[in-house]
Amino acid sequence: TGGQVNQKTNDAWRDGTVEARLAHALVTGNTDYVEADTEEARLAYPRPLDVIEGPLMDGMNRVGDLFGAGQMFLPQVVKSARVMKRAVAYLNPFIEAEKTGETTATRVLMATVKGDVHDIGKNIVGVVLGCNGYEIIDLGVMVPAARIIEEAIAQKVDAVGLSGLITPSLDEMVTVAKEMERAGLTMPLLIGGATTSKIHTAVKVAPHYSGPVVHILDASKSVPAVSSLVSADSRDAFVADVEAEYETVRTRYAARTRATVILPLETARANAQPLDPSRAQPAPRRLGVQTLEPTIADLRPLIDWGPFFIAWQMSGKVPQIFDDPARGAAARSLYDDANALLDEVETDGLLVPRAVFGLWPAESRGDDITLLSADRAQTLATFHTLRQQTPKTPGKPNRALSDTVAPAGSGVEDYAGAFVVTIHGTEELASAARADHDDYRAILVQAIGDRLVEASAEYVHRLVRTDVWGYAPDEVLGADDLIRETYAGIRPAPGYPSQPDHTEKLTLFEVLDAERATGVSLTESLAMSPPSSVCGLLLGHPDADYFNLGVLGRDQIEDYAARKGMSIETAEQWLSPALGYDPADVPSPQAVAGDGEVRSAAVV
Ligand code: SAH
Repeated sequence: TGGQVNQKTNDAWRDGTVEARLAHALVTGNTDYVEADTEEARLAYPRPLDVIEGPLMDGMNRVGDLFGAGQMFLPQVVKSARVMKRAVAYLNPFIEAEKTGETTATRVLMATVKGDVHDIGKNIVGVVLGCNGYEIIDLGVMVPAARIIEEAIAQKVDAVGLSGLITPSLDEMVTVAKEMERAGLTMPLLIGGATTSKIHTAVKVAPHYSGPVVHILDASKSVPAVSSLVSADSRDAFVADVEAEYETVRTRYAARTRATVILPLETARANAQPLDPSRAQPAPRRLGVQTLEPTIADLRPLIDWGPFFIAWQMSGKVPQIFDDPARGAAARSLYDDANALLDEVETDGLLVPRAVFGLWPAESRGDDITLLSADRAQTLATFHTLRQQTPKTPGKPNRALSDTVAPAGSGVEDYAGAFVVTIHGTEELASAARADHDDYRAILVQAIGDRLVEASAEYVHRLVRTDVWGYAPDEVLGADDLIRETYAGIRPAPGYPSQPDHTEKLTLFEVLDAERATGVSLTESLAMSPPSSVCGLLLGHPDADYFNLGVLGRDQIEDYAARKGMSIETAEQWLSPALGYDPADVPSPQAVAGDGEVRSAAVV
């Protein structure tokens, strides 16, 4: 993976001053001459630190300006950071030898919270902040609140950034905020990660911490926020603005909660999705559990590149994105680097896909899905599903995943499955890259790991449809059809909008003996580790579809807790983060008008 310019044919820049050459290397991400040019600058400047504070920071400021102006894109910025890191690594022994005092750089502590293993977003934010002269203290993943606070104090950090992907992390962030308050900390608290939102930050986190609390939407927003928060000139105005905005968010949120109309659970059940059991899929060709080790070559054609570009903050469709006048070249270069990495891991075997899946006779019992022994005499496992409870327009059902499986006693022999897929090796490969001052490669590895595991889910699902369950033996779908999921059947994942309860993973893992089969384990928040892992149910009914559960009534939470054999508090804990509501806010079912029509429902 070379620089972004072809230095062989285009090296006029080598004739410039050392400052100009360093700036050029930073802006273009070219690492070919970084040590030589840094050495030249070191000899020319009084102290090695002057090289960092002078030409290197000037170059990085230029990168920051271009990024801010939309003329550079995230992959290029991360490549610039690689040049910077290599230069700083080169200078460090000289700086140590001179023994300068403490650095005065602003320090930002970053951590993925306890129970969560996802850190690609955090790493991107860290690199972007690092590019802008902030010192990043990265505590890694699964970091308990106590450790965050201890390090924040010991390292005298200027801000704390929390990250997380899965919904239980939303609650853990609240815990960290409360603990920071208890410890008397006052530095700004930054909240980021895919499931976080301005509403969650304003409603659930900010009230527990008296220091500034700011939701950071993405890496490009992190720099202006941190710089406003740490500058004496702008801090008060910025904090006042955010606080005013969050107050509005809280007011709207409170109004929205009160306006929600929830049907009684029995009414919602009476409006279940009327899927025709006679259209259920035929018996699978092979029942039971199978393990599988797809190759990287098997998976490559199934990669959905859309989310890859989103991870790099360049949303767009492949291949159209390559023709984009502004972003095309950067997108192409990133795509080429990704494919070079795929070539590499295809050959050296450093990323290892593993998969397990199973198919069983199944029936629905109320809102549950039960997996049965081959003779249907024994219950092997029960998946608990949840039902939409908000009022629907006439003709639209209140859906639950269980509606897609033929009910017990229907006379139809139906089936269902489950799967876990993972990619081993991403963390090792990413840490090796990081140790080599190559965050670009580290983030690329993580992003590719995520793509490969989604491709593995696609691979297993297709194998099930066309062969093992075999209800669509002749299915021929292109990559676009797979991305749009036009095939018959779904693979709903616990923790997603149709089933926000991550504890369903415990059942899923047990029935597949998935930890032994794939090496994937579950953290205390039920995140899967390694981080590039996906699991789900396999439901075959041709009319099965994904849906969002929406707000649940207290009656359903009580019913669900009883079915799962968990306390109501535990059920609330697992369900409330995904809904964005405090347990206390979950509305009780409100009687609808006698004729069944909802007269004043505010739609959530
Ligand atoms: N092509 C995408 C696929 C991942 S997102 C990629 O490569 O990233 C789509 C997957 O998320 C689905 O296959 C399903 O497993 C899960 N999913 C999406 N919406 C869901 C919902 N409402 N309920 C349950 N699972 C859902």
